Amino acid sequence: MLRANDKIRLLMKLRREGITDTRVLSAIEQIPREEFVDARFQDQAYEDTALPIDAGQTISMPSVVAWMTWALQVEDRMKVLEIGTGSGYQAAVLAKLARRVYSIERHRDLHKIAESRFNQLRLTNITTRCGDGTKGWPEVAPFDRIIVTASAGEVPSALLSQLSIGGIMVTPVGEHGSEQILLRIQRHEHGYDTQHLMNVRFVPLVSG
Ligand code: SAH
Repeated sequence: MLRANDKIRLLMKLRREGITDTRVLSAIEQIPREEFVDARFQDQAYEDTALPIDAGQTISMPSVVAWMTWALQVEDRMKVLEIGTGSGYQAAVLAKLARRVYSIERHRDLHKIAESRFNQLRLTNITTRCGDGTKGWPEVAPFDRIIVTASAGEVPSALLSQLSIGGIMVTPVGEHGSEQILLRIQRHEHGYDTQHLMNVRFVPLVSG
């Protein structure tokens, strides 16, 4: 009961902040964020805050998840690639909107835990891999949508090349500790259009 109230309060906050897309709000409503949050932070599962997870990483703030999901403009027949599975929460939200989500995480422990959460919640349209996401997933490319949930000084070129024509990528750019900007990049037949969305703070995207 308490949880339900907490969730409603969070959804109302997201709405007040301007996230009015009902598909995005409904996806967030359907995913139990408490399942992706460590036992010691259960009471904060529906606060609009990033929280620590294993391996020194973080589960993103719900409002950032909502804005990134909105910016991606996912449609139900699309194939989406996520770099940085982390807790698995963002992938789970995307799984409610897309046909299939591919998600890559470099930390084996996080990868394993996220995978077991997806099984438990019967999110059968998520495929995961443990490895370096900066290389993308060439065997399944191209992707209609790509989301990167860790930040580097530059957008990895392998990811740009694995975006389909007309496809959209949402990614932070900027080094750890300095200003990071969330970008929305759309691929066209002859290049890419880039839009700056907002300032953000993500953990580093580590290649290799
Ligand atoms: N989307 C996550 C956010 C996790 S934080 C969530 O909803 O919880 C970002 C994650 O990116 C971290 O788990 C980190 O280990 C991972 N990461 C960093 N560099 C990576 C890389 N090159 N390939 C794959 N994952 C990476």
